[in-house]
Amino acid sequence: MSAPDLPTNPVVPDGLDVPADLLDIDPEQLRALGYWVVDRTIEHLATLNDRPAISTGTLDDLTAALGGPVPQSPTSVDEGLRLLADIALENQQHGDHPRYFARVPAPSSYPAILGEWLATGMQGVSSSWGGGSGTATIELVVLGWLRDAMGLPAQSEGVLLSGGSLANITALLAARTEVGNGVVYLSDQTHSSIKRGLLAMGQAPDEIRVLPTGDDLRMHPATLRDAMAADRAVGLTPRVVVATAGTTNTGAVDDLPAISAICRETGAWLHVDGAYGGPAALAPDRNGIVGLELVDSFVMDPHKWLFQPYDIACLWVSTPGLLYRTFAMHPEYLADVQGGGVDFGNRSLELSRRTRAAKLWLTVRTYGIPALIDAIQRGIALAEYAQQVIEADSRLEIVTPAQIGIVTFAGRGCSADDHWRASAEVTADGYAAATCTVLHDRTVLRLCTINPRTTTEDIRGTVSALADALGAG
Ligand SMILES: *Cc1c(COP(=O)(O)O)cnc(C)c1O
Repeated sequence: MSAPDLPTNPVVPDGLDVPADLLDIDPEQLRALGYWVVDRTIEHLATLNDRPAISTGTLDDLTAALGGPVPQSPTSVDEGLRLLADIALENQQHGDHPRYFARVPAPSSYPAILGEWLATGMQGVSSSWGGGSGTATIELVVLGWLRDAMGLPAQSEGVLLSGGSLANITALLAARTEVGNGVVYLSDQTHSSIKRGLLAMGQAPDEIRVLPTGDDLRMHPATLRDAMAADRAVGLTPRVVVATAGTTNTGAVDDLPAISAICRETGAWLHVDGAYGGPAALAPDRNGIVGLELVDSFVMDPHKWLFQPYDIACLWVSTPGLLYRTFAMHPEYLADVQGGGVDFGNRSLELSRRTRAAKLWLTVRTYGIPALIDAIQRGIALAEYAQQVIEADSRLEIVTPAQIGIVTFAGRGCSADDHWRASAEVTADGYAAATCTVLHDRTVLRLCTINPRTTTEDIRGTVSALADALGAG
């Protein structure tokens, strides 16, 4: 690299030859601030067990602490960092807390946090090959590792997105490119973001079928077959089936081989939403998620069960080139950076995108797949243990048995309101966070136990706190 000879004309306006110091900081000061951030993060992780699993402030209090008039002069970065840590980041659900069992916990691992920090500090970007060949390579590599470890079709191509909501809709847009418009089949347990996404992408509301599930809360192949036949009888075309590998409510896994057979017969696209349950399929016996080699597209959220900080989701599509056919654009201003490898900006609707691969690649490489499987199996075993604790308590009854990390249960003789009140009381107390869900009109308590740091004592304490709160009503 050599600097060019400088022309002497035109005259440089006053001051313009001096770079602005806005982004500058003394390296030692940055080092000290960086160490403070590291220390504060370690303190967070080390003291989680003694702090509430969720903290929620009021809008007034939080705005008083964090708002104020539009800043017109500098303020101390130390004070700003402390406000971020102590107030903004404190007042949230702590998905990494060992007794956070609500919705889906988010225990993150140290390689993932470090990979994310480094990629942020080095302004990691993964949009085009010319604009990020190294970052594109780690994305290709980690998507390939996980695809092969889960037994997805070997030719599948992937892309990382912000979460299951966007990844599922990216899959459905690709499916539409391949099979065209027509009826899309969901079940009453399909994640609500999928219907929202379908409507946003212009799917006709009267061509979305929400199939009723049975007591097992699975999509029944016979129901799907009948619904497709009824649609064909009135001149409609079945196009896409969305099955779920681990529902958010109960962890139920749809019968993928049977649903795939129906899709093959009818030419429909099989999309499988494994946003929650997907990582369970890493285990050699797949934890009941069989048939992944049959899918046309598949989604899995590492920010749920692969120990990643938010946000990251994986999408794989089994038709090579389809993501590119759906999303590629070739504007004149990208002509010099496209081609040569993979342009990830041409595999979804995101062009400028952080290199989400850094944290996931470092995690998989650091631990190796067997250790990740052990941590996932622990979450599955904890839900099975919770089921035993519930069964041993005469005040409670199991509603759906432990299924890949989720168990639901109810208080005998308790109303829906009793359940909502009990979960709110235990959560407000701060000891644990648990919530209710509704299964075919029945309100139940639900625990999702995927944090490897959760102990059996945490499970016993939470179940008995919930049972006590139910009884106190
Ligand atoms: C969480 C979840 C989603 C949505 O994923 P986000 O990452 O929250 O956007 C979709 N499907 C299932 C089954 C989920 O559990």
